[in-house]
Amino acid sequence: PMSLSDPVKPHRICVCVRKRPLNKKELAKKEIDVVTIPGNGALLLHEPKQKVDLTKYLENQTFHFDYSFDEDATNDLVYRFSAKPLVKTIFEGGMATCFAYGQTGSGKTHTMGGDFSGKSQNSSKGIYALAAQDVFTLLRQKRYADIDLCPYVTFFEIYNGKVFDLLNKKAKLRVLEDEKQQVNVVGLQEVPVSSVDDVIKMMEVGSACRTSGQTFANASSSRSHAVLQVILRRRNFLHGKFSLVDLAGNERGTDVSSNDRHTIVETAEINRSLLALKECIRSLGQNSEHIPFRMSKLTQVLRDSFIGENSRTCMIAMISPGMNSCEYTLNTLRYFINES
Ligand code: ADP
Ligand code: MG
Repeated sequence: PMSLSDPVKPHRICVCVRKRPLNKKELAKKEIDVVTIPGNGALLLHEPKQKVDLTKYLENQTFHFDYSFDEDATNDLVYRFSAKPLVKTIFEGGMATCFAYGQTGSGKTHTMGGDFSGKSQNSSKGIYALAAQDVFTLLRQKRYADIDLCPYVTFFEIYNGKVFDLLNKKAKLRVLEDEKQQVNVVGLQEVPVSSVDDVIKMMEVGSACRTSGQTFANASSSRSHAVLQVILRRRNFLHGKFSLVDLAGNERGTDVSSNDRHTIVETAEINRSLLALKECIRSLGQNSEHIPFRMSKLTQVLRDSFIGENSRTCMIAMISPGMNSCEYTLNTLRYFINES
């Protein structure tokens, strides 16, 4: 039961949590829901309400966020309170970033990309398309139409500390930092767009590129960060940029049991980048001068979104509700606790 009014003022950093419903597979396995959203930004992780054979499995724990969304929340609602307030920022010459964080299968891609698969009955737009919609609405408003802004889209993936262009056949790109500490992804395709449909087309091109040629498409895409950017240029100069980031699954962070060298390297890199992101977010939250963006490729590439007077960030933590996921769920929730 959400009874919130629209947020009026954009926040420099906003942290939300979203619980997805138990899926068919979990229901078939009689998974038990151990997550409740009592409202007011809170999330309660609790002992199973139904009787189970296990003795005490969980202690009741409450976590607090700016906003919390239960399994009935639509992408529209989540968008309205998380990313939507940031759209204006890029028109005012600022930078904005929205992150989807959580274990694989918790709903990151559903929230960001939406569901056009036809698998679900009501296919719904995700934050990519909803943000694009608002960008084009604002572009048509007189005060912005008058300043001649041109919209572009980029879509790339960061895997194992390397950047790959999803709009250019996964070309591997170099990241350079100039003397003014401007970070540049060399050769990244910026595709001009003139409608929401254009953006959706690029989403589809990029998503197909993300998973093509791989035997374990889902597994592989869950180990990379995907970044879709909507860029506004004014006479070719950068005016504003909105980065929408579907992060690598954080469960790798807890998996240290693997013997496979490849997996170990991968795990280390995901750990490094998610830790770097956490440090940057924390520095932002404390309005600290020093933002340790160089700690990973992810934070380095997104550097201009973190710094500057007019940069805004929102994070959406995705939660699977099942008892069998609770270790990962706790891991996700603890990521947002400042133990300082
Ligand atoms: P992730 O990207 O975090 O690995 P997905 O977004 O692919 O997870 O979600 C896993 C599955 O759960 C998908 O089939 C997706 O459609 C479904 N799902 C995720 N979140 C929701 C939600 N809030 N409501 C309904 N289905 C969801
Ligand atoms: Mg995904």
